[in-house]
Amino acid sequence: MWKFRFSILLVLVLSLIYCNPGEIDYNQEVKIEPTSDENYGDVAQLLKDTFRIDIKKISVDMVYFPESFYVNCETEIVFTMFKDDTKPIIHLQPVLADQRLVDSILLNGESLDAYNRSDVDFIEIDGPNQKVLEFQRILNTGIEHRLKISYRKNLTNNYYMFATEVSDLYGNGNETIFPTINRPGELALHKLRFRVSGDMKFRLIGSGLVQKIENDDYQEWTLDTEREMASYTVMFVLLPEDDTLYEEKAIDGVDVRIMAFKNDASIDTAFSTLASWLPELRTNLGPFPMKRGLSIMLMGSGGGMEYYGGTISSLWALEHEIFHMYYACSTVPATYRDSWLDEAVNEWYENSALPNFNSINDDYSSNIVSGRSPIGIGFDGRAYNEGAQILEHIAVNMGSRQAMIDFLKYVHENYSFKPFTTIEFVQYLKDYSGLDYEDNFKKWLFSGETVNKTSSTQNYNIKKHQVNFIPPQSIIDKYENLNKGVVK
Ligand SMILES: [Zn+2]
Repeated sequence: MWKFRFSILLVLVLSLIYCNPGEIDYNQEVKIEPTSDENYGDVAQLLKDTFRIDIKKISVDMVYFPESFYVNCETEIVFTMFKDDTKPIIHLQPVLADQRLVDSILLNGESLDAYNRSDVDFIEIDGPNQKVLEFQRILNTGIEHRLKISYRKNLTNNYYMFATEVSDLYGNGNETIFPTINRPGELALHKLRFRVSGDMKFRLIGSGLVQKIENDDYQEWTLDTEREMASYTVMFVLLPEDDTLYEEKAIDGVDVRIMAFKNDASIDTAFSTLASWLPELRTNLGPFPMKRGLSIMLMGSGGGMEYYGGTISSLWALEHEIFHMYYACSTVPATYRDSWLDEAVNEWYENSALPNFNSINDDYSSNIVSGRSPIGIGFDGRAYNEGAQILEHIAVNMGSRQAMIDFLKYVHENYSFKPFTTIEFVQYLKDYSGLDYEDNFKKWLFSGETVNKTSSTQNYNIKKHQVNFIPPQSIIDKYENLNKGVVK
């Protein structure tokens, strides 16, 4: 995600005017006792013990009823267990929110009752923000298990849209739409089918291979990620054809598809930005990582969010989000707290090209990583500033910006789609260059006595780097049946 830049003074003044810290749940997130990473022991084992299942494939069959503002979902996940004699869990927000929305649950063919706690229980992982469904059946390793859940997902009635709404900063993944495990390191093959009911014509863009299917009864598309990839980076956007523009073009060998609202952001400007940005990234970091190219939902305002082979982004945030195709969407953080690195690398690349960019002080200490549990959600907002300065320290030690870029290319080439932790990144650095940053990283990221209280400046920035998914008012105004009072 992208951060706005303002002078400190302007930010402080605006923060005082606009920021109501009470409405930002980021503050709750950071009330974690100061701790060292040693408290969590073997992180890989903790992840297996907590999340219990390894998803191979997620299939989602959706029928969207735009004018009734809901989607009927029939889903199947194929998974294995990490350990024998354990109960599987899954994240699925619509079912947690209201069991009346559940039509059926079948685990390995057995029908389970969403209301019966001896069939399905609701438990918490690392605090109230992460509830999961725990199926009360003991399963074993070594065989594939199948979970089928049918349910209705309700949408807000302020516009005719159905789209992913991931926020890695807050730790919201795709569990708001389909069953998954909400942790960055959960890689799975995704096959989604969309059918739209009614006469209103829609467009769909999204991650991976998207195909329009002939169907006399519905408008239909399929989306196939064609490989196991981070589940929380699956993107799709379904919007009315009448309200949007769509163009596609090959740039530097990458198929680029751009959708935008009419009378909103300039698609031409986006294409010309990419005409120089994609070749630069290819030269510095390697071939574009996604074989089906790039799908962009171009917004007229706000920041952006990166997805696998896609982004929902303003023009302002576009270069930042496309950079994330390399760091965040193909290299993948093992846990949310490791996501600081993707932002730090991204910001470092931008800032290190400018004069007077300073590296972190040797005596800096913080709990940017250790302030959060490996099984927690979201990442620390200091990633953008102090995080980028940490990478500059390494670049200076390597001798040049280009030497650091070459290392980043090496990591991308060797560790894409192999989720890694912050400490594993330190090991890759040592393997590549001989530089040993373990003690520095422990001090810079895994210590610090102060709890990460976000400042009002940070709150302002954090609030502002969210996607602003709002159609222009002229589009809202033309519809009679929308609830215009709740448009955000
Ligand atoms: Zn970002």
